[in-house]
Amino acid sequence: MAGPGDIFADDFAFEPYWWMAAPRPDDAPGNVPGAADVVIVGSGYTGLSAALTLARAGRDVVVLEAGAAGHGASTRNAGFVGKTLKHSFSHLLETKGEAYAVGVYREMQEAFDCVTGVIEREQITCHYRQCGRYMAANSPAHYEIMARELELKTKYLGDESEMVSRADQHRSLGSDIYHGGAIVPGVGGLHPGLYQSGLLERVRRSGAQVLDHTPLTAFRRDGDSFEAVTPRGTIRTRDLIIATNGYTRGATPWLQRRVVPFRGLMIATEELPEKKLNQILPQDRTTHDFNNNLIYLRRAPDSPRLLFGGRTGFMSDDGRKIARLLHERMTRVLPDMQHVRISRAWNGFGAGTFDLYPHLGNHDGVHYALGYCFAGVPMGTYLGHKMALRVLEKKEAKTIFADRPFPAKWWYRGTPWFLPFVTANYDRLDARGR
Ligand SMILES: Cc1cc2nc3c(=O)[nH]c(=O)nc-3n(C[C@H](O)[C@H](O)[C@H](O)COP(=O)(O)OP(=O)(O)OC[C@H]3O[C@@H](n4cnc5c(N)ncnc54)[C@H](O)[C@@H]3O)c2cc1C
Repeated sequence: MAGPGDIFADDFAFEPYWWMAAPRPDDAPGNVPGAADVVIVGSGYTGLSAALTLARAGRDVVVLEAGAAGHGASTRNAGFVGKTLKHSFSHLLETKGEAYAVGVYREMQEAFDCVTGVIEREQITCHYRQCGRYMAANSPAHYEIMARELELKTKYLGDESEMVSRADQHRSLGSDIYHGGAIVPGVGGLHPGLYQSGLLERVRRSGAQVLDHTPLTAFRRDGDSFEAVTPRGTIRTRDLIIATNGYTRGATPWLQRRVVPFRGLMIATEELPEKKLNQILPQDRTTHDFNNNLIYLRRAPDSPRLLFGGRTGFMSDDGRKIARLLHERMTRVLPDMQHVRISRAWNGFGAGTFDLYPHLGNHDGVHYALGYCFAGVPMGTYLGHKMALRVLEKKEAKTIFADRPFPAKWWYRGTPWFLPFVTANYDRLDARGR
């Protein structure tokens, strides 16, 4: 435990906690082939899910990855496996009608079933558990909004949930700052690093090549095919798939203008006594609040630690600053954690979109799936698979998220200079709400 001002454990590192059990591979990248049926850019859940479906269908697949395989958010996230979109069910019901709202949320269920199905079918050991979720209300008004949303989900979708009064809150979360909340039992949690490594291993075994440290720097269309350019060679390919989500940069400028990379920050504490963890999260559920600038927490699935995240919009890559910020925020929620030390701090990029929907589509012949707004564990796996089915021209490729207009803004070219202002405004609104 930490003395005053000393929050860093002896083994503190600026690196995802998940990399302890699932270290990034450091193999030398294989040779760049001259040709492939499909080139996929990005080795997170989206790229690997697409690669697995395509390789199993007999396609010659090459996955390009700028860093070590799984460098992106897929090995950095919190591992919550949910069924929600940024657009609430009640909002869609009110603005778009029942058929549309139910259609969208049924697909969220399909995305959830897709992840659990992959884990089961491929026998990926990644600590998946249907642990349920606790969602903490930030104010009495917010409690009412949450109750209404869940009531509608029960009525139209058959989803189960249970409201928890403030007086009973300690059954779910050892904090006094919230005004009750809700338990949603039908969702889960996993170890994101082991899930990505498991997919990677299955992709390689299925015959696809995954080339680490081989970024796509440009591509050219040449008749019916593409040339995918990397610093280590050029690949001629019939199909090109972009699966770069929050890491989408200048190699694909049309997409770069349409996704906003949001930094998510996380910390892992030192090992804690079981008794303390039981006080904080007695039911061991994934947990978050509903601030605009929300926080999320869970127990590590493979060691007695608390994992805590939040503060999207903080623009620094300084691990100690991230740790201090989140430690301060954690002790606001859980004052007893003041003397607990931090063992890992890390960050990663998720992708927002201007319409808050995920997108799957084709622009000038290039396939893409991205913009998951921090729901990429289910959506990346699901839309990666759907994108592969489109390449295979299967009728099952249909999804409500395909080929929607993908909005851009004239004032946005790919650098989210406005995020600190947005976050500061969120903090102001959240303080007012409290
Ligand atoms: C801190 C944090 C917490 C989160 N928590 C959750 C959660 O609990 N639940 C949830 O559902 N979602 C969560 N998310 C979001 C989720 O992690 C992502 O939506 C998901 O991992 C996206 O997967 P992906 O495969 O599309 O992209 P990524 O996993 O980000 O992979 C994109 C890859 O593309 C590579 N790349 C980029 N450009 C190139 C190029 N030119 N050439 C080659 N390779 C390139 C990158 O290096 C990267 O590895 C969280 C995100 C963060 C950052």
